[in-house]
Amino acid sequence: TPRVFSGIQPSGGLTLGNYLGALKRFGETQDRGDMPTIYCIVDMHAITVWQDPEKLNRATRELTAGFIASGIDPTKSILFNQSAVPGHAQLGWIFNCVARLGWMQRMTQFKDKAGKNSENVSLGLFAYPALMAADILVYHATHVPVGEDQKQHVELTRDIAIKFNNDYGVEFFPVPEPVIEGAATRVMSLRDGTKKMSKSDPSDMSRINLTDDADAIAKKIKKAKTDPEPLPETLEGLEGRPEARNLVNIYAALSGKTAAEVVAEYAGQQFGTFKPALADLAVDRLSPISTEMSRLMQDPAEIDRILAHGAEQANAIAEPIVRRAYQIVGMVGA
Ligand code: ATP
Ligand code: MG
Repeated sequence: TPRVFSGIQPSGGLTLGNYLGALKRFGETQDRGDMPTIYCIVDMHAITVWQDPEKLNRATRELTAGFIASGIDPTKSILFNQSAVPGHAQLGWIFNCVARLGWMQRMTQFKDKAGKNSENVSLGLFAYPALMAADILVYHATHVPVGEDQKQHVELTRDIAIKFNNDYGVEFFPVPEPVIEGAATRVMSLRDGTKKMSKSDPSDMSRINLTDDADAIAKKIKKAKTDPEPLPETLEGLEGRPEARNLVNIYAALSGKTAAEVVAEYAGQQFGTFKPALADLAVDRLSPISTEMSRLMQDPAEIDRILAHGAEQANAIAEPIVRRAYQIVGMVGA
């Protein structure tokens, strides 16, 4: 039976990349109503890089508010934080024993995040994709809406599911599909067209935060790196121009148009004209979300109730799947 799972880390404030690559599509998937949807604030992933405990608390609640403000309805989707459901960690350990070291060593996110000093990063950062496989498979999820950057991890999840099933001679875990669609599956940094926009990037000017006000959004777009050429007549004219391409993609995703339509509309115009139009569009689409987020943040107890209720629902699905996995592996008492 089809089921949707996806997660976001409370490792900082939400960005436009998270919104276009993930949240907006989570809401659309929920509203299609053809598959049950489970959305998770993955706090255990966030601590693979040290987090100040108070900030983690706040970021978890703020992210929950961000989900709801972006259209995730906790009465239609299951919405909870990862650490509240023990099955993630339990199955995660089993998957640490299924995944091969060589598979993990090929993960590009680890290489990017570890940088040159990989001796000094946490073991958890390295094991991250095995825990992510557990996040997905502990619900027997079949569809995983993510941004382009998570494709490799979902493919690793498929490999883990297949290897578990082979190793134990069972057909227990489904082999899930990444769902990567839309005009902005990889929103790039506003400062560097070769780097993705990230909530953990040290430069605030590299990203648009969902909590940025209109002035901040306008300023960041105005200062976004571009080349001196005007917008081209056709999409092909954006080749080799990653920064220009990025701004066109963002415009397309926010307006619901295709990148080709956006290029046709602004053909031959300067960025001095395009950027203010993009800023207006971004403010128009994002300000209702940030207003709703601040409203929700005024009642943290209500947010905690929503998460606790979601965790109960999630646990009811995860617990029997973990128990069965333990039995398959040969654990006494499961
Ligand atoms: P971090 O820098 O801490 O890794 P992040 O911004 O990459 O934070 P994640 O929590 O790792 O956010 O990812 C949450 C979801 O957002 C994933 O589905 C991921 O693919 C998507 N996503 C993240 N950044 C982008 C981006 N720049 N463009 C499109 N989707 C993105
Ligand atoms: Mg990330």
